[in-house]
Amino acid sequence: MIFMKKFYPDKYYDSIFDIDFDYLQKKGIKGLLIDLDNTIISRGKKETSDGLEEWFLRLSEKGFKICIVSNNWKVRAREIAESLDVPFIARAIKPRRKAFEQGMKIINTSEHQTAVIGDQVFTDVFGGNRVNLFTILVVPLSESDLFYTKILRKLERLILKKVQKEK
Ligand SMILES: [Mg+2]
Repeated sequence: MIFMKKFYPDKYYDSIFDIDFDYLQKKGIKGLLIDLDNTIISRGKKETSDGLEEWFLRLSEKGFKICIVSNNWKVRAREIAESLDVPFIARAIKPRRKAFEQGMKIINTSEHQTAVIGDQVFTDVFGGNRVNLFTILVVPLSESDLFYTKILRKLERLILKKVQKEK
């Protein structure tokens, strides 16, 4: 089922901290479009952890260019991106293509050089796949989700039955 393929991530991990960035570099990935809520910080949480700041620092030391792409538009989201010192696209309306294309423009990478990292199949993975980016799914940090997200999570589980997590 070719259509279903659009919902499958290229890689699936328990957490952002498990992602193998040497592998991504070998594949020629230079830029990362990273989701905010429940990917790098729990929905509703205000502060980033030391571990997260270090993770961002390590990635930029490795030479990755990063942009946070979030459907969130609240001040809190912007403040988090600013505290991590990375560019930020709010109200992204993922899975629309536009925000991913804007993100690539900001970090100046092409499609085959760009990976998406996020916790949702229908926004992050589907959206990234529509633009032919390398897609990485992580398990959401928190169970608290918006109402419509809860419904989508049920569908997600069906899809993820077919996708193996990387260790
Ligand atoms: Mg998210």
